[in-house]
Amino acid sequence: MLLRLGISRWAACRLSTSAATSTAHVPKVCIVGSGPAGFYAAQQIIKSHEAAEVDIYEKLPVPFGLVRYGVAPDHPEVKNCINTFTQTASKNRVTFLGNIDIGSDVTFSQLRQAYHAIILAYGNAKDRKLDIPGEELSGVLSARQFVGWYNGLPEDADLKVNLDVESVAVVGQGNVALDVARILLTPMDMLRKTDIPENVLACLDKSQVKYVTLIGRRGPQNVAFTIKELREMVNLPGCRPNLIAGDYQHLKDLIPSLPRPRKRLLELLAKTALDTPAPALASAWASAQKEWRLRFLLSPVEVLAGADGQTVSGLKLAHNRLEGDGDNQRAVQTEETESLECGLILRSIGYKGVPIDSSLPFDHRTGTIANDNGRVKGHNGVYVSGWIGTGPVGVILSTMTSGFTSGKMLVADINSGQVDVSSARGGKEEVLDILSKKDKKPVTFSDWNRLDKFETEIGAKLGKPREKVTNIQKMIDISHD
Ligand SMILES: Cc1cc2nc3c(=O)[nH]c(=O)nc-3n(C[C@H](O)[C@H](O)[C@H](O)COP(=O)(O)OP(=O)(O)OC[C@H]3O[C@@H](n4cnc5c(N)ncnc54)[C@H](O)[C@@H]3O)c2cc1C
Repeated sequence: MLLRLGISRWAACRLSTSAATSTAHVPKVCIVGSGPAGFYAAQQIIKSHEAAEVDIYEKLPVPFGLVRYGVAPDHPEVKNCINTFTQTASKNRVTFLGNIDIGSDVTFSQLRQAYHAIILAYGNAKDRKLDIPGEELSGVLSARQFVGWYNGLPEDADLKVNLDVESVAVVGQGNVALDVARILLTPMDMLRKTDIPENVLACLDKSQVKYVTLIGRRGPQNVAFTIKELREMVNLPGCRPNLIAGDYQHLKDLIPSLPRPRKRLLELLAKTALDTPAPALASAWASAQKEWRLRFLLSPVEVLAGADGQTVSGLKLAHNRLEGDGDNQRAVQTEETESLECGLILRSIGYKGVPIDSSLPFDHRTGTIANDNGRVKGHNGVYVSGWIGTGPVGVILSTMTSGFTSGKMLVADINSGQVDVSSARGGKEEVLDILSKKDKKPVTFSDWNRLDKFETEIGAKLGKPREKVTNIQKMIDISHD
């Protein structure tokens, strides 16, 4: 009958005012977190379901997660996914509610009451520690904090970073490690064109850093960075690689049997370490004042303090040997050690998630919410998307796949009746009621547009894409103006 009238079941129930007129209500879905995992899941849900309403809750007063606060400022093209997220946010079935911390302003069980289904997409807010003596010294920072600092993340905006040092050790050899090394070594005229905040640029401008050493537990065949990032380092103006040829000789035998992306990466690494560079590159490297280094088969065992007992003077490293083959190969520490002189240590050994509610099955070892391919174990109608479900692996593209998969799964569960939508839910109205009792006002997407405009206008005057506002209250005030 509904079909004959040209009105779908969902449109009909949107028109209905009580449960008595229909067995199904408009599905009310909420997403916790507005990074790629949240936005891609929202996009999928509204594409796959013609009536579902999606509310996205975000802790910060701004959207986009690590696209705004993680992706390197000198990689603006990576941030183009923001255009897609903005389109999603402009759909009338999608509502962005920033400045709402789930677990604190609103509890998970309150969301359970207010919504038929929930997608947890709140990423990884912490990072792994080295757990070695001296790690608490002021010259040891996590790469996560350092990234937050140069990206204007409010909690790290005032981080004390001492760049009055010649040598920096970065523990880790993934893309984040390469990002922080590159930002430390890139010429100022290039950095000034990015959206790095002015106070950070001022600090980088005075930097005395000349040498950045990236330390890995295993060998060059195990590096976790990708070819684009390596190529940028090889060609970085004013900077040369300093690679120990002996570390790379064995790669020549290994490379032919590797799958293509790995093969190309290791070919470039071996070429950089072993071959004579083309004349132009050779002369650029010869005149370079700065240097990046890769060191392998080393595990940090102690941070060495300077004479004042507060600052860092070096990092004690144990030599490792490899045991096992292929993917099972692991680094085993030996008794032999060496010391690397450095004044700043950046720990880049992985981000990790934190629990937001004790009822959710949280795996503290991996820092993830336990799930079966996106479905949260023991919680019907609750899903994960992105890094909170997978851990800090993959890039925006893989996070997109995760978001799409969770979104599709949720809609399939609604359609199959696995997620019960037979009773009405209060959705955002119910949550806004809770918030108003706490005097908490969310930042909407049009509020964000106001801050976005403010930042880009200030940025234009400074010859950069934007100047981020880094104080939470100021961000809220401008948004609500
Ligand atoms: C330093 C760095 C550089 C990167 N560079 C690239 C790159 O160049 N290219 C690329 O493809 N990928 C890059 N990535 C990977 C990419 O950023 C991730 O794949 C992606 O951001 C993961 O998305 P997510 O939504 O799971 O997490 P996030 O992007 O972290 O989003 C999670 C969101 O949830 C919010 N949140 C947290 N807790 C709560 C709460 N309690 N209540 C409400 N909201 C909450 C957070 O504020 C955040 O906005 C980079 C990652 C890092 C760390």
